[in-house]
Amino acid sequence: MQSPQRQAVSILGSTGSIGVSTLDVLARHPQRYSIYALTARERVGELAQQCRRFSPRFAVVAGEERAAELGELLAGEDLPTEILWGVDGLCRVAADPAVDTVMAAIVGAAGLRPTLAAVEAGKKVLLANKESLVMAGPLFVRALAASGASLLPIDSEHNAIFQCLPQPGGPRLGGGYDLEGGGVEKILLTGSGGPFRARDTGDLHRVTPDEACAHPNWSMGRKISVDSATMMNKGLEFIEACLLFNARPEQIEVVVHPQSIVHSMVQYRDGSLLAQMGNPDMRTPIAHALAFPERIDSGVAALDLIAQGRLDFEAPDMRRFPCLRLAREAMDAGGSAPTSLNAANEVAVEAFLEGRLAFTSIPAVIERVMKSAQAVELTGLDAVEAADRNARALAFEILGALQGPPARGEL
Ligand code: NAD
Ligand code: MG
Repeated sequence: MQSPQRQAVSILGSTGSIGVSTLDVLARHPQRYSIYALTARERVGELAQQCRRFSPRFAVVAGEERAAELGELLAGEDLPTEILWGVDGLCRVAADPAVDTVMAAIVGAAGLRPTLAAVEAGKKVLLANKESLVMAGPLFVRALAASGASLLPIDSEHNAIFQCLPQPGGPRLGGGYDLEGGGVEKILLTGSGGPFRARDTGDLHRVTPDEACAHPNWSMGRKISVDSATMMNKGLEFIEACLLFNARPEQIEVVVHPQSIVHSMVQYRDGSLLAQMGNPDMRTPIAHALAFPERIDSGVAALDLIAQGRLDFEAPDMRRFPCLRLAREAMDAGGSAPTSLNAANEVAVEAFLEGRLAFTSIPAVIERVMKSAQAVELTGLDAVEAADRNARALAFEILGALQGPPARGEL
């Protein structure tokens, strides 16, 4: 029997980098949390191991075949776990009345429906899946206001900003923030600049997926690692910050900070600059959001500033990282422009990871899609999904026009 005080947690994307870090934090606090559901797309072997260790009530995989495989792996074991599949299964474990907290850690647009379902059901939602917020911002803002859900940022920068902002009466994410009223002048969104911050730009067209995924400070999934290398990650985070903190684009400044120790900052009218610092380990923001407003052990070592020695800051190189400009333009255009930006980026990054597109062509593909896709108002989920499909189709068309890996200077 579960003790009534324990919070029941569903982890969407439990086999990913954030999912595994979340399980690590949860396993340190069995008296506070129980695990209600674990989900994975196709790594059923890993999911089976997690089920044996954490005995969730549900396990969800992408399709019926994977569900059968997982069933075979767990056959004969004395587990309470029922196996579900597909988006319906994900939405069910995200919105189930027995669930208190949902960690949204699926990568990309695939996380949209279950993350939104958790918000609509009024859950405490821990948001790692920034793509879902970027592609459907207005829907999240409306659903948060209607359901009273709380949305706590897991992205280290947004979690840092959240920690540095004034919080009278608790979190008011999703349109409720009054930055001016709180004396906030500016949000400084930090980013490491990724593995190619100082690389000769003439070499960038031939970097490999493995080089792009070798982030100097963070260990992450491959898609977000490529986004960090193009700085589209910072572009998506810029849009994410506008939405979460009700900020105007000009209130957010991107600052490059190669050591990834300062996770972001908030500048106040009186000259104060508050920073949140820590070792680059996602278990800190995960533990912060899980226990908010309390503080729990995360397993992360305390930051040793003396050993660290120095912290550097510089302006981003907008020519090297055109994705920053593209994200700003999408935010300014509004409506479905961020949806198209995200969709085009997902297609281009996948093509790069599969060796079908040069690294430097990622922003070029996105820019072409942004020029062709018409920005429409996001009236509902159908409009979001139509804009997403349209931008993907445009991106595939542009990719299809390329014969093999493009030569330098092409696209
Ligand atoms: P990852 O690739 O390591 O894991 C992704 C997870 O999503 C896996 O469990 C996978 O099974 C699941 N998944 C993928 N496609 C799916 C689909 N179509 N249907 C159902 N499940 C699917 O990714 P990650 O690095 O853990 O990132 C997860 C999210 O968190 C991303 O949105 C990323 O931007 C965000 N994030 C990650 C980090 C980090 O340090 N890794 C930091 C900040 C934000
Ligand atoms: Mg981040």
